[in-house]
Amino acid sequence: MTAPTPCILLDGKSVATANEEALRQRVLALKARTGERTPILATLLVGDDPSSATYVRMKGNACRRVGMDSRVVTLDARATTADVLREIDALNADEQVHGILLQHPVPAQVDERQCFDRIAIRKDVDGVTSHGFGRMALGQPAFGSATPAGIMRLLAHYGIGLAGKRAVVVGRSPILGKPLAMMLLNADATVTVCHSKTANLADEVRRAEVIVGAVGRPRFIRGDWIRDGAIVIDAGYHEGGVGDIETKGLFERCAALTPVPGGVGPMTISTLISQTLEAAERAA
Ligand code: NAP
Repeated sequence: MTAPTPCILLDGKSVATANEEALRQRVLALKARTGERTPILATLLVGDDPSSATYVRMKGNACRRVGMDSRVVTLDARATTADVLREIDALNADEQVHGILLQHPVPAQVDERQCFDRIAIRKDVDGVTSHGFGRMALGQPAFGSATPAGIMRLLAHYGIGLAGKRAVVVGRSPILGKPLAMMLLNADATVTVCHSKTANLADEVRRAEVIVGAVGRPRFIRGDWIRDGAIVIDAGYHEGGVGDIETKGLFERCAALTPVPGGVGPMTISTLISQTLEAAERAA
């Protein structure tokens, strides 16, 4: 009898930390070439959601760790679509700014899609524009949506092949589930996308060799739906450090697993920073 292969912990925090040294070197080289011009990520925060403020702060800190800068533009919770578009226009025109991030979600009265689509594609380092999505889906060069692109980088780092694998993504949001499905498809996986109207979700999940939780509900995907030997990616993050997938007992029987926290989250920020640097390198 052969011993089961041990589960790989997909340690996004370590991968992201290790990548920071390489980014620091690239920032130094870029500054030397451009007369000490520092790459800048501009983040636009609308409203007073405490989690969004924390994410914006974390992104700024990550910029500074690699020698880049960040600029935070804040608008109050009553801001209109026109207010947000005006700020985006100013950031698009500002040659000091290399990347623009509009922190999701925006207050209900703001048309988020219209605002995302106003971001110049060369500065769309969070990969949120329809134009960028279309290019990515068609396999053209584009900045990927940061969380799904981070997941793909994490899988690639651990040498996890996707060709021919049956992947099930639970969630179809424009920033996560949908772009991830396209990225998995481009990597030759056979992809099923599930959502709130999916019939027999448990059966869909049972067929998955790669399962991605992108639902936004704590421990919604039950551990006993997941087959032995699956690759388990949990994009969710909720209070108490739990994700969208119930992971109890999974480590003993799956092939690979993202921890929560420390799996997908750090890869999102790392991807955003990498893409901002790439935008700055191109601008130079
Ligand atoms: P979202 O916009 O709320 O989308 C949730 C998706 O889940 C929707 O497509 C929805 O389906 C689907 N869903 C809801 N209830 C369902 C059900 N009962 N059965 C099957 N599908 C269901 O959320 P999101 O922005 O994609 O985020 C998803 C999760 O990822 C959240 O936990 C969020 O915190 C996390 N996240 C993490 C990062 C990171 O950096 N780590 C970044 C972004 C998001 P419908 O389309 O049919 O409504």
